[in-house]
Amino acid sequence: MVNREQSPAHPLTAVLDPVLLEVLACPAPDHAPLQLGEPGHPDALSLTCSECGRIYDVRDGIPVLLLDEARYADD
Ligand SMILES: [Zn+2]
Repeated sequence: MVNREQSPAHPLTAVLDPVLLEVLACPAPDHAPLQLGEPGHPDALSLTCSECGRIYDVRDGIPVLLLDEARYADD
């Protein structure tokens, strides 16, 4: 079997619609695109803003894009 393109299947792609992922944006004023996973935990079921670094959890397949619920990576 050939592993095509080594597209890393992120766990989130199993629960989130890829089209939804395309249009998701940070609820902060930056409205920046969100990246899968979070710093230090690339496979985490969460989304990280590429601009402000806020991390949003995905619960039951639904991204919680609320500033009040956002957290920051603390490593
Ligand atoms: Zn942001």
